[in-house]
Amino acid sequence: MFSKRFWDDRLMEWAMGDEALKVQAFRFVDVLPTLRTHRAVTKHLREYFTDVSRLPAPARLALNGDPNSMVGKALAVGARWNARQMAERFIAGETVPEVLKTVRQLRREGFAFTLDLLGEAVVSDIEADQYQQQYLDLIEGLSEAVNAWPENEPTDTDHVGPIPRVNVSLKLSALFPRFNPADPSGTYDGVTERLRPILRLAKERGAFVNFDMEQYDFKAITLEIAKRVLIEEEFRDWPDAGLVIQAYLRDAEQDLEDLNRWANDRGTPITVRLVKGAYWDYETVTAAARGWPVPVYTRKPDSDACFERCTRFLMANHETLRPAIASHNLRSLAHAEAVAEALEVPDGAWEVQMLYGMAGEQAELLRDAGRRVRIYTPFGEPIPGMAYLVRRLLENSSNDSFVRHAHDPDADPAELFMNPVTAGDAEPPEQLETNPPHGGFANEPLTDFAIAENRDAMLAALEQVEGELGGEYSLVIDGRSVQPNLNLVSRDPADGVTVIGKAPAATPRDADSAVAAAKKAFPAWMRTGPEHRCEYLELAADGLRHRRFELSAWIVREVGKSWGEADADVAEAIDFLNYYAQQMRDLAAGRVVDVPGEHNVLSYRPRGVAVVIAPWNFPLAILTGMTAAALVTGNTVVMKPAEQSPVIGALLMDVLRDAGIPDGVVNYLPGDGELIGPPLVKHPDVSLVAFTGSREVGLSINAEAAKTPPGQDHVKTVLAEMGGKNAVIVDADADLDEAVLGVLHSAFDYAGQKCSACSRAVVLADCHDEFMKRLKGAVESLEIGEPKRPGVQVGPVIDADSKARIEKALKNLGEEVELAATLDLSDFDLPAKGHYVPPRVFTGVTQDDPLANDELFGPVLAVLKVKTFAEAIEVANATDYALTAGVFSRSPENLETARRELVAGNIYLNRGCTGALVNRQPFGGYKLSGVGTKAGGPDYLHQFLVPVNVTENTMRRGFAPGAAKPSAPQKGE
Ligand code: NAD
Repeated sequence: MFSKRFWDDRLMEWAMGDEALKVQAFRFVDVLPTLRTHRAVTKHLREYFTDVSRLPAPARLALNGDPNSMVGKALAVGARWNARQMAERFIAGETVPEVLKTVRQLRREGFAFTLDLLGEAVVSDIEADQYQQQYLDLIEGLSEAVNAWPENEPTDTDHVGPIPRVNVSLKLSALFPRFNPADPSGTYDGVTERLRPILRLAKERGAFVNFDMEQYDFKAITLEIAKRVLIEEEFRDWPDAGLVIQAYLRDAEQDLEDLNRWANDRGTPITVRLVKGAYWDYETVTAAARGWPVPVYTRKPDSDACFERCTRFLMANHETLRPAIASHNLRSLAHAEAVAEALEVPDGAWEVQMLYGMAGEQAELLRDAGRRVRIYTPFGEPIPGMAYLVRRLLENSSNDSFVRHAHDPDADPAELFMNPVTAGDAEPPEQLETNPPHGGFANEPLTDFAIAENRDAMLAALEQVEGELGGEYSLVIDGRSVQPNLNLVSRDPADGVTVIGKAPAATPRDADSAVAAAKKAFPAWMRTGPEHRCEYLELAADGLRHRRFELSAWIVREVGKSWGEADADVAEAIDFLNYYAQQMRDLAAGRVVDVPGEHNVLSYRPRGVAVVIAPWNFPLAILTGMTAAALVTGNTVVMKPAEQSPVIGALLMDVLRDAGIPDGVVNYLPGDGELIGPPLVKHPDVSLVAFTGSREVGLSINAEAAKTPPGQDHVKTVLAEMGGKNAVIVDADADLDEAVLGVLHSAFDYAGQKCSACSRAVVLADCHDEFMKRLKGAVESLEIGEPKRPGVQVGPVIDADSKARIEKALKNLGEEVELAATLDLSDFDLPAKGHYVPPRVFTGVTQDDPLANDELFGPVLAVLKVKTFAEAIEVANATDYALTAGVFSRSPENLETARRELVAGNIYLNRGCTGALVNRQPFGGYKLSGVGTKAGGPDYLHQFLVPVNVTENTMRRGFAPGAAKPSAPQKGE
């Protein structure tokens, strides 16, 4: 482990043979540059590797020793030095002078180059400005030097004449922090504002610019931006730009055809770098997690075959789409050579591209054969460098990699060079199901707003809803729509004026009638078989699905959610209906425990009338979830939405009625919680209260429901899901790209109005300043506005009271507390009466500060600085709440401590702390956050049921059915 060979050869060799070691080794390489002290390095080495039995004994010994010993220190220094050496194999330097040296050497060896600046995720406008400036400097700084170098004909000319020597590759997403495929026009504006100066300078200096491709989410918008900007008058006749097509994508050929049409219209050629694609793992994993179609071919030979078809297309159209065949696979490259020859493509008209540090011999081979070979040469700082390095290591050690097999002396050339179509025929067919049902249930996929049809559908729904605003809604009691008054006026929080709808405010007398209706409907509903009740739920789920965009649009307007958040709200409602149906089927089977002569069945009965009291912040999902659970278990329901969202409640009532649920089984009762809440909760005919909302109201309901008023013959059950003061810990070794974005979204999405939102960041002193610098930039780059616009990240808070409450709480802060990041509302175009509150981050907050203890339910984040991870856990746990918590850390030991010791119902490691999905993350807290039930989890329905056990003695006169037969021979046999 002290030697360079270990890192170069042994590590790769082991990694290939041992999946567990590979994961540990690559994870360690990834975290290494963030470790500031030798102690930290040895601590991580130990945590990552001591369990790996295949490590050589001396290395294990050193790891187990004292980190402060000479051996420990040497180990740390050695690890750092050797990892750096390994990185240098793939990364051409940290600075421009360093990289200039490398490319000079490359040119001496007869290679062309393209430079890629490795960078961290761009989370702010400041970082996007820096990225732009670095490319401007690169083009400016390199042009003069490189153009003065002696000419090298094969790399500097094509079949027509000279081509740019300076060639850079950039990522469009790094030019705009709000790069958002759901908002193509805002993204186009933001990206091109920083892109045009780069293109202008490149054109002026005779440099080439390639737009790199990243994950599939960004593909359509990347192509769109490139096409739109390159057809502008200024760039229309400029041939020195390039794009990437990834052959592992099923869309690859379609995209090439579109591009070809576009390039023909434009009248100037463009270069297309054809690659297989570097994000295969990411694409398959995320598609499976989201339940979206897998965009990539899942079998390697299919990508290879597509690569060959794309090669042929490019060669056939080389005058409009100049082929840059980027591969390390000799079969793919040989195929390109053969097709070019067959189609008589002039020699200089196409080139080969390879990555720096990979497949050097093959590059030389092609160069010697006279082919122009361009080396993709990344450079930059060590932290982003390591992420790049790990991608290369993965590629080199992947089972599917040509590079890996090419180094295997036993590899069979006939197999290595096999036609991918033949290779594909020999493999089992593709498995395309991304979201296989888990125990009969699959989450409803979220809508992909990167797809134009989905955006159009949402815009159409918003327009439809615009035309239906101001409608009048009714109470629904025993199937009758009643409209005693229209006192509940719901307004759009984004402008504070537009009336979304008017609903009656129910009176205590209405509450009595609703309970009476539910009581009357109970016996018949209880006797409706569970299977039928499940079917009603599934019909309702279909109803919601059918009206998906429309419901999302209503949510955007009534409670101010962004498109994505509103869509997730509807998807979660659908999930609750389907999931509880599936759970009820399991429960309906009961539990049988038979012993000879005795038959035992444990089965479940509904409790009776359930009152459902919901908050406005998940106006559809939570109301649906609690109602669905009550219904499917055979209870009848009085459904009370929050006063701020009666229209969504009415729409849900519509959907339930359309599903055919009988009259009186669900009664819809919008109204003022303070007025009708108490009579509902106290009502002697009510058996269960399912509440989600604030702690204050939840505790009062719990207290009231504990009483047994005259006429009540049962103990009420209360489910109370309440608030949170959720903390996310940022450990010293955290991946700050992920930590900054994770905290940003958890704290400010939906203006911080989620019970799961992060309102405290507990940050280790070692990374505090760097974290704060990046978070500040990110917060100050947020877009505030009306959520009906797709690019808006932070909308209004729910109403004037909420705004006033937040502002008041921020008036008298402790002396040490400092406003570290915020935005000025006057910089945004906001309706004057909208309830906007700027996002705010406070530092210097101490544990006893109200800012660290009281739920504010708005876009406010308190940052607490701590010295050790143990202190971080202590601080995170030091509130009355226990709802969600998160940790960003790359220390296996610290993650283990967090699993064990964090006090929260939902703990998230290395991701944001919001966005729980039904079944995958059963949701709910304890302490003063809730009574410990988990919505969307396997225990939830039990709360709505009474378990009853029936025991029958089946023995009659010594005879029992199913009694064990005697095994001994009978007399006389
Ligand atoms: P809220 O407590 O003000 O209102 C919730 C519901 O209770 C509304 O329908 C309201 O009309 C009703 N209500 C008000 N007073 C009542 C009374 N005296 N008796 C009976 N009902 C009464 O909460 P909110 O502002 O709508 O929602 C925000 C709160 O909800 C936050 O504290 C948030 O953390 C919490 N929340 C928790 C979860 C969770 O799963 N733990 C989920 C979402 C929201």
